[in-house]
Amino acid sequence: MPGKPVSKKGNTKKKVDVLFSQENGWLKISKSEHKQIYSFCDGYRNFLSDVKTERQANRKGIDLAEENGFRNLSEFIDKKKKLSSGDKIYVTISSKTLILVTIGKNNLETGMRIIGGHTDSPRLDLKPRPLYEDGQMSLLDTHYYGGIKKYQWVTIPLALHGVVNKKNGEQIAISIGEAPDDPVFNITDLLPHLGKDQAEKKLSEGISGEGLNVLFSSIPKNDKDAKEKIKLNAMELLFQSYRITEEDLISAELELVPAGSARDSGIDRSMILGYGQDDRVSVYTGLLALLDQKEIPAATSVCILTDKEEIGSVGSTGMYSFLFENVIAEIINLTTDNYSDLTLRRCLKNSKMLSADVNALHDPNYPEVSSPNDNMAKLNHGLILTKYVGARGKSGSNDAHAEYLAELRKLFDDANVIWQTGEIGKVDQGGGGTIAFMMARYEMDVVDCGIGLLSMHAPWETAGKLDIYMAYKGYKAFYSF
Ligand code: MN
Ligand code: MN
Repeated sequence: MPGKPVSKKGNTKKKVDVLFSQENGWLKISKSEHKQIYSFCDGYRNFLSDVKTERQANRKGIDLAEENGFRNLSEFIDKKKKLSSGDKIYVTISSKTLILVTIGKNNLETGMRIIGGHTDSPRLDLKPRPLYEDGQMSLLDTHYYGGIKKYQWVTIPLALHGVVNKKNGEQIAISIGEAPDDPVFNITDLLPHLGKDQAEKKLSEGISGEGLNVLFSSIPKNDKDAKEKIKLNAMELLFQSYRITEEDLISAELELVPAGSARDSGIDRSMILGYGQDDRVSVYTGLLALLDQKEIPAATSVCILTDKEEIGSVGSTGMYSFLFENVIAEIINLTTDNYSDLTLRRCLKNSKMLSADVNALHDPNYPEVSSPNDNMAKLNHGLILTKYVGARGKSGSNDAHAEYLAELRKLFDDANVIWQTGEIGKVDQGGGGTIAFMMARYEMDVVDCGIGLLSMHAPWETAGKLDIYMAYKGYKAFYSF
């Protein structure tokens, strides 16, 4: 039975807009904010160009944190020095995962405000025995990391980054292919003239995982007795430059990534084209939101820059490990006189989190996969609140609570953050996962909240500058809420 119609008399004060529409964010912002967006994204573009691996992201994060007064938590632990409101600390785990914390005014038991993004991106890792010789060339054998479309990785210039650990404990950093006069590396593809059989294969099979072999060198060593002269020459060059042997490559982590800098994209320079924006866009915006805090926040602010998200958050530097609990336990131990497990559990349970990861944008080249009826996020429509991810009936999804979404709508609106809703494509098209459900195990409120990309997981991904800036603005507001 319908209710009584509301009388016209009682409804004259304010006209309620019963419909919701989202327009292009560029139509809503001021001239001064327009400028801010461009200058913020200059910094982001440089960050993206400098940071190509999870280790480099970790290093850069520590450098920026230290410049902003953050200190290593181990200093406090070693000296049994207590932490108090306003203290800024960081914890680095195996040079890959970084956690930054600003101790707030409120008791930790009342919960923290956590923003969590990931530093790892899809790439090609070298195998433990990578170097071999074939067809008068030396090549590097790879095992890809994360979800890639293999055909995208052939013929493009690749840079080699990473570390080699020697038996004597020495660690050698390698980075080749980013400076303009550096050599680059490359995976060859078949010429179309001979590509008849390849062209008939499925797109996912045209280039195989074992086919991702990187051309490394071609000059043989002039040594009659040597069996593999080209491989030997290549290894000798590595020894001359880095004092490493083939055996040392066993204890190495060397990654091939697209070579070169991130660029402004579009005639209006409104976008960024760059490698690794999944998820370094959240890393940069989340990190700066924390570093740019002017006042001591009420709730303790935490920024997690985690590793291994692209392969399921496993391993000791992934969010599925106990790393986060361990760090918060140390912090509680240093902020209270009597450490209690109950304090830790309450602190985690009462926390609120934004799982800062990227989502898919509507792509006019592939409209058939988009979630219809305004449910697909759009370029330049701001930061995305993604209630659920998962696949086939939301399976594996955190599915954030309506109550929490209402709080965030208010928070973002009050802070003039341009935001939108999003879904990873239409129902039953595919799906994805983030670290949200792992953090929800602590019973805290978590929602996926990051920006959208075009060509996600491709060697070069596209993001809108307005969206990037709105992530920063939204994350900053979140830390004060
Ligand atoms: Mn991601
Ligand atoms: Mn990803």
